Amino acid sequence: MSVISEVIEKIKQKDPYEFEFHQAAEEVLASLEPTTKKHPEFVKAKIYERVVEPDRAILFRVPWTDDKGETHVNRGFRIQFNNAIGPYKGGLRFHPSVNLSILKFLGFEQIFKNSLTTLPMGGAKGGSDFDPKGKSDSEVMRFCQSFMRELFRHIGPDTDVPAGDIGVGGREIGYLYGYYKKIVNEHTGVLTGKGLAYGGSLIRPEATGYGCVYFAAEMLATRGLDFKGKTVAISGSGNVAQYAIEKVNQLGGKVISLCDSSSTIIDEKGIDDNKFNYVMDLKNVKRGRISEYADKYSGTACYIGESVWDVIKNEGIKIDIALPCATQNEIDGPHAEALVKNGCVCVSEGANMPSTPEAVRIYQDNNVLYGPGKAANAGGVATSGLEMSQNSMRLSWPREEVDLRLLQIMKSIHRACIDASEAYGKKGDYVVGANIAGFLKVANAMMAYGIV
Ligand code: NAP
Repeated sequence: MSVISEVIEKIKQKDPYEFEFHQAAEEVLASLEPTTKKHPEFVKAKIYERVVEPDRAILFRVPWTDDKGETHVNRGFRIQFNNAIGPYKGGLRFHPSVNLSILKFLGFEQIFKNSLTTLPMGGAKGGSDFDPKGKSDSEVMRFCQSFMRELFRHIGPDTDVPAGDIGVGGREIGYLYGYYKKIVNEHTGVLTGKGLAYGGSLIRPEATGYGCVYFAAEMLATRGLDFKGKTVAISGSGNVAQYAIEKVNQLGGKVISLCDSSSTIIDEKGIDDNKFNYVMDLKNVKRGRISEYADKYSGTACYIGESVWDVIKNEGIKIDIALPCATQNEIDGPHAEALVKNGCVCVSEGANMPSTPEAVRIYQDNNVLYGPGKAANAGGVATSGLEMSQNSMRLSWPREEVDLRLLQIMKSIHRACIDASEAYGKKGDYVVGANIAGFLKVANAMMAYGIV
């Protein structure tokens, strides 16, 4: 049995129910196989065994009261996975599905993603099984304050710097940071995704969606293609999906789909800039459902209870480019087969692990350009890194400067993936390229520290 297979086996034995974590670890480790031959020193120092074990996993009670005075208890988590190359960094997710397995998968992915950005950031992830949907602002505020009442002792600008993720946007970051500032009595860069008035960076809200489109554009360019005139499917309708629409429109593509966990809308005419502004207001101000889009714009089809990928499969909708921006495992094998059949040439993942292993195999067998999340959605955390730099220097860079740095980082991630895939005999395989390029820097840092 190879070293890698042994490590995968051990993970499954130790934590048999952490399915999402198994999936992420297996995907990364399988592509690291060639590094075991080139770097016997990593095998000897048990780097592969050590990198799959978090530095620590913090689990805590989060009690809060609703507007009627009733008490609720949720579970809070912070997985500080690996700080070999910089302070822990990674988002907070508030969603009823949150558990240890999902946060370990996300924290593990974050190690290599952060390494790929070229910035000095370790990997972490956290959150709670709290559902902000349907809660009043006061309820969300009381929950965030209770969450921070415990989290504050584990984080710091040089220790661990959380950010947003599903269910944690500008409103939640404001409440979390406001409470941190009050109890620690410090105004410091301990969270990213902050509002512009209190230390946030221009372009941070846009960064993940823009970066995902920049990465897709880089992949397309390797085949002499671009976004002009292309039909694009986007899933989700939250932060990442929203800014992916804006950037696709700027590059001349046409976005025809969005979804939330209740329904999917298909607008064959395209979600132009006016409709994009409507979506921004609907989701971020009114906190409405995406089905309301179909009431507003005639000619839009609405599919209740179906994902974007279900609809593309069932209705045979032709698309050129897919940008999954909702959640993990949203595209399975049959969805991927339908994408290929319907003309899709490029998949760039705004979400984390949105494609199942079977879907990934289908893309690769059919020569679809495939940018895995840890490379394609790294623009968000990269710009969080830029927010940390601005906070440390106590200055703010203009919008154009941050956007240009984001573009350069996405280009350099693309280049690092191509170079690593070539160096390890898998030219053009972005999965192998991203995993190896991200891993090598972390592994070399771990080697330098000795056994710690
Ligand atoms: P968000 O603003 O909370 O939006 C998430 C969107 O996905 C919402 O429209 C949500 O619908 C939908 N969704 C969630 N679960 C779903 C499900 N099971 N089926 C269908 N739709 C579902 O979150 P986000 O920040 O855009 O994050 C989206 C993805 O990008 C996640 O995988 C996240 O980890 C990844 N990501 C985010 C960032 C970032 O900077 N924000 C960075 C890197 C990666 P409902 O409103 O109905 O729940």
